[in-house]
Amino acid sequence: MARKHVVGNWKMNGSAAAIDEVLDALQNQSFDASVSVCVPYPYLGQAVAKLKKSAIRVGAQNVSEYGDGAYTGEVSARMLKDIGCAEVIIGHSERRRYFAESDAAVAAKLARLLEVGLFAVVCVGETLAERDGGRAEAAIESQLAPLRALMARGASPERFCVAYEPIWAIGTGRAASLDQIASMHELIKRHLGASFSVLYGGSVKAGNASAILTLPAVDGVLVGGASLDAQEFADICRAAA
Ligand code: PGA
Repeated sequence: MARKHVVGNWKMNGSAAAIDEVLDALQNQSFDASVSVCVPYPYLGQAVAKLKKSAIRVGAQNVSEYGDGAYTGEVSARMLKDIGCAEVIIGHSERRRYFAESDAAVAAKLARLLEVGLFAVVCVGETLAERDGGRAEAAIESQLAPLRALMARGASPERFCVAYEPIWAIGTGRAASLDQIASMHELIKRHLGASFSVLYGGSVKAGNASAILTLPAVDGVLVGGASLDAQEFADICRAAA
């Protein structure tokens, strides 16, 4: 069985000193799981330098859908690769919601990452209204459609994964139930392939990680709040044995 993948998403949190502290606590630990931490742009170089001798990889939380050029304020996939970044989260619901990131933009970002050889973690998720209205599956299927189109044009399923993150479970302390997680992961694998890697995200903590990670359809977890605490994040990484 492939190794589980644990991704920490620090969102727009931290400082140079705080990030050093968390990375100092993590850098000498070894985990059976494949582990990455996605830090804010200004601290990427610092994290890459700090984790040079560690198996923990550094990721970004966004990338431009454009290639290098006159796009003020943007950061290209090539630049992320250049500074030693290994993977990138795209399509997070916070970006879709606050920055109007569309499915088309997410697909364009994925294409950029694949072009330069960076691994992508593509987030999908339904709102509470969609879940309560019985439209969760349809919402996820429509977010998967552009990914399927890219795969039909040759995008390798080994170069990216999907993180299923129900929006109502993010930062709320209310993770999806094991049944909800299993059935949505199975649906995603029916669409993208049985061996396609699907992570779960949304209020993953040390206390629920091992139950979630034991589900056969769960290939890893995307951890927000709990990844800012080195001890708790390490416990989650260890639960992904
Ligand atoms: P959370 O966030 O673990 O704080 O719920 C997950 C995410 O947004 O990726």
